[in-house]
Amino acid sequence: MTHQQRTHRDVKVGVSYFGVRNPRHVAEDLKAMSDAGIDFVVHTFSENDAEFYLETMKEIVELTHRFGLEAYIDPWGVAGVFGGEAYSKFVALNHDALQRYNDGQSAAAACPNNPKTLDFVKSWIRKAAEIGGDVIFFDEPHFAHARGGWSCVCDHCKRKFESIFGYEMPSVLNEDVERFRLESIRDFLKQLAGYAKEFGMRTAVCMLPRTSELHFWREIFALPELDIVGTDPYWTGIGLHGKEVYDHVLNFTKLVVELADGLGKEAQIWIQMFKIGDGDEDDIKEAVRAAVDGGARNIAAWSYMATGYMSYIRCERPDVAWSRFIESVYEIKRTENKIVEKEKGLLS
Ligand SMILES: [Zn+2]
Repeated sequence: MTHQQRTHRDVKVGVSYFGVRNPRHVAEDLKAMSDAGIDFVVHTFSENDAEFYLETMKEIVELTHRFGLEAYIDPWGVAGVFGGEAYSKFVALNHDALQRYNDGQSAAAACPNNPKTLDFVKSWIRKAAEIGGDVIFFDEPHFAHARGGWSCVCDHCKRKFESIFGYEMPSVLNEDVERFRLESIRDFLKQLAGYAKEFGMRTAVCMLPRTSELHFWREIFALPELDIVGTDPYWTGIGLHGKEVYDHVLNFTKLVVELADGLGKEAQIWIQMFKIGDGDEDDIKEAVRAAVDGGARNIAAWSYMATGYMSYIRCERPDVAWSRFIESVYEIKRTENKIVEKEKGLLS
């Protein structure tokens, strides 16, 4: 598809992409995406990719550009601090950098307040720049949670807590600890996003869809180092269908768009395209429509081909789910971007 001259109100659509590292096959997929009207690809870039597929990933990003698509790079499971189904070698080798739960156990995630973690993720960012990334996509930065416990009570966190609040970190998760965790994530993102910008890349963040954390969103979205701000209001985990999906996605979209507009930033909404049940595929259309109706102009879906090739979370009928998504993309491009002419390959 030839990408037309865009206006700032045009809707951009992206999909995440992972699991294929053979450029021959990647090229086929990128062509399919381009034909379908997709504008950007969120490439997962795990520690494994950064160590063993660096040149390959460079080739994959070059191919992405050759097909007229933008390349977002995702620190997939990097240091265990971001979302993603990838293991972290950094976590395995750096026990002194791990988060600690309140019961003293170590988490399988590095602490964002540990300088070693920051240095390591910065080294990942350098590699993301080296492979030619356009945007760094910080996906769901979070503290570990398990077995009803909370983190992090490592020495770095204890020291930082005390310097902010003037008393020893308590053993219960009180309001100050919540506040501390937000500030820790915010400081971590600020330094990382600022570092990414030194390499000329733009930055995006996706916060988990928790209405109880809206005041946190506001502070994180306001970081001048972040360009694109969003959330991923997925719905199957909370048992929504049809109109409920529309309302759920619309509500979260409005929250993000209001904050983003106030900050002069781009609002991004993620659409669930995994774990969609047989017969529920139209919910994808509801979600895309809701995101657009709510004012989002950057829509992304997790994942390409309805995650059909990742058995753990694939849709029950990935082909049908993917078709519903592509139909939605076509519809958006036609109604919102005024692309009238039916593009070759679209809806085929
Ligand atoms: Zn810590």
